[in-house]
Amino acid sequence: MIRVSVVGAKGRMGGHVVEAVRGAADMELALALDAGDDLTLISPENTDVVVEFTVPSASLGNVLALVAQGVDVVVGTTGWTEERLEQVRQAIAAGPRPGGQKVFVAPNFAISAVLADHFAVQAAKYFESAEVIEMHHPDKVDAPSGTALHTARAIAAARRAAGMGPMPDATQTDGGSRGQVVDGVHVHAVRLRGLNAHEEVLLGNAGEQLVIRADSFDRGSFMPGVLLAVRRLAADAPAGLTVGLDSFLDL
Ligand code: NAP
Repeated sequence: MIRVSVVGAKGRMGGHVVEAVRGAADMELALALDAGDDLTLISPENTDVVVEFTVPSASLGNVLALVAQGVDVVVGTTGWTEERLEQVRQAIAAGPRPGGQKVFVAPNFAISAVLADHFAVQAAKYFESAEVIEMHHPDKVDAPSGTALHTARAIAAARRAAGMGPMPDATQTDGGSRGQVVDGVHVHAVRLRGLNAHEEVLLGNAGEQLVIRADSFDRGSFMPGVLLAVRRLAADAPAGLTVGLDSFLDL
């Protein structure tokens, strides 16, 4: 049995993780902690892997403390920069199991979204045009979504690597309807009551279109990815810091 502790357990994501761990035949819930609780309760004596879903302002401090306490950590909280990730690498090197500890950070745990990105990158060099449409619930505060930005940048990089130039577009007047241009890729954001998180990548050639679409209907969509990461950390994941669920999808 993999002993899993959850930090941020009373939050929306943390609550789902607690239920997912309880429902997994190969896991048992060790500690479920939230704001104000004592993180030092978590140790290798009671926990194999910690899952951290809190707030960006608290996450780095939590992860550094957990690394210092010698436990492996799966992190879902957003707001990670290269500078913050570097602090985690240094903490692992200085930790109680130098070089042996595992921290995994994923900006997106939805397997469908991660695969959509991967397939879009594979397809990009075969199509003259590519555009991204992301669709979310109207309570989302940022547009376009971080995932759509990532998809657009990845498509742009794949096109550059293939030596492709700008996409055809005769638009002279726009007024904003052509979306945000990210590295030359147009990204469109829809906000609609009833939606959750959805993304389409449209790839076009003369006479043909490929559509890659990922739909996340509710927070349960993240749990298979979270449990996969927990299992990989408890088993064969490499020591050190790993970023991105694609690392665990045998792509
Ligand atoms: P949430 O409902 O606000 O939950 C956050 C929880 O963390 C709250 O219970 C909060 O307590 C608690 N908390 C705050 N500071 C803490 C600390 N220092 N130590 C322990 N617990 C603390 O937020 P959410 O919707 O679950 O989202 C959590 C994070 O996950 C966000 O950054 C979100 O963007 C991210 N997220 C990531 C993915 C992904 O796939 N990677 C998917 C969805 C969401 P209080 O309310 O008492 O402050």
